[in-house]
Amino acid sequence: MSEHTNAFTMAQKQFDRVADLLGLDQQVREILRFPLREYHLRLPVQMDDGSIRVFQGYRVQHNDARGPAKGGIRFHPGETADTVRALAMWMTWKCAVADIPLGGGKGGIVVDPATLSMDEKERLCRAYVRSIWRNIGPRQDVPAPDVGTNAQMMGWMMDEYSTITGQYTPGVITGKPVGGGGSLGRREATGYGVIYTVRETMKHLKIDPTKTTAAIQGFGNVAQFAAEGFIKQLGGKVICVSYWDREDRASYTVCKDDGIDLDFLVSITDQYGSINKDQAVSAGYTIEAGDEWIAKEVDVLIPAALEGQVNGESVKKIHSRVKILAEGANGPTTPEADEVLKARGIFVIPDFLCNAGGVTTSYFEGVQNDMNFYWTKTEVLEKLDDKMTQAYASVYDMSKAQDVYMRDAAYMVAIDKVVKAMELRGWL
Ligand code: NAD
Repeated sequence: MSEHTNAFTMAQKQFDRVADLLGLDQQVREILRFPLREYHLRLPVQMDDGSIRVFQGYRVQHNDARGPAKGGIRFHPGETADTVRALAMWMTWKCAVADIPLGGGKGGIVVDPATLSMDEKERLCRAYVRSIWRNIGPRQDVPAPDVGTNAQMMGWMMDEYSTITGQYTPGVITGKPVGGGGSLGRREATGYGVIYTVRETMKHLKIDPTKTTAAIQGFGNVAQFAAEGFIKQLGGKVICVSYWDREDRASYTVCKDDGIDLDFLVSITDQYGSINKDQAVSAGYTIEAGDEWIAKEVDVLIPAALEGQVNGESVKKIHSRVKILAEGANGPTTPEADEVLKARGIFVIPDFLCNAGGVTTSYFEGVQNDMNFYWTKTEVLEKLDDKMTQAYASVYDMSKAQDVYMRDAAYMVAIDKVVKAMELRGWL
């Protein structure tokens, strides 16, 4: 990633903009522009052939004034200290906007998980926890799954932590498998949360959701459940999704003008969110190389893959019909693209509001772990809808009251809460 699109530079730029708007004190800025703590880990792991491979890992705790740091662990070959710093900072704002009593953290390991066997993955997960266990915990920092990691991996990490500490501690990590301390509804939570915010936006814009179409970037956890919500809850059509093909090392856009058959597409998609193109073509889908999802004539665009995807170049391709950009991914839009979206009047639902459903349900999971009493899926999803709807209203109201862009309004709501917590704790 160039300096131009460096995720951490971007996160700081977004923060600085709002800090200026809020006239934030210089000392407060000095605290919030950087993580409070970060750990760089070297992780030796035995491979199946007996050799030792050393992986680079990170854990960053951006701010924990409002509660224990919270944020996923990504397994990604392009992971860097700066992407983890940016994501940790966004988690601080996300937890504040969602109004859950947690701070912001993030972790990552530089690895393509698809190149590891199941046993190697397990050893890498356990090595990560052995290296960082003193600095995480239900009252310190609570990791979760993210790109390239899944519930099973969280289960191994929880087991390693519990083994080291000698106490069953399900609350050390969230996104665990159901039956192994996980919460019902966690799998669906981020994608459904995206759709709750799209639903609220359509109410304000007086759009009939049943007459709308969407194109989605990505076809992993967030994208699949956002697609399900868009189709089943809103009654709209998803006409395109996209994915990264690991064999071809290229991205593809998979489309069907009369709407995708979600169950079918999921059935030909692997655990990493890669679609089998041949089977898709046989079933009448069109496949285009590249990021054509962004150019489609749809009402709603949902980037749900990686950061920096809606940038100065790709934003020019957005069709005039598009009314809403719902940021399922973290940091999908660069500041340069933001200016274009603003000028064109496209309604942006900013990432740390739009995709807060995952962390909100992670928080519910921690609460259930603490109580040792588990809710039904309906209970979880109802509580999630309430939280997301309230969070959306607080940001929307702020954007109207201050006459600012939704992203700036989300930052204002979040920064205000974090600064208040720091004041109350006597940090300022
Ligand atoms: P995932 O690994 O399940 O899926 C990622 C998807 O993106 C895959 O389909 C992959 O093929 C696709 N992809 C990757 N690079 C691409 C490219 N260049 N072009 C097109 N498609 C590409 O990941 P996920 O959990 O769905 O997360 C997606 C995004 O949402 C990330 O930004 C993540 O940080 C964010 N997020 C995830 C959660 C969560 O609960 N999983 C919560 C909040 C935010």
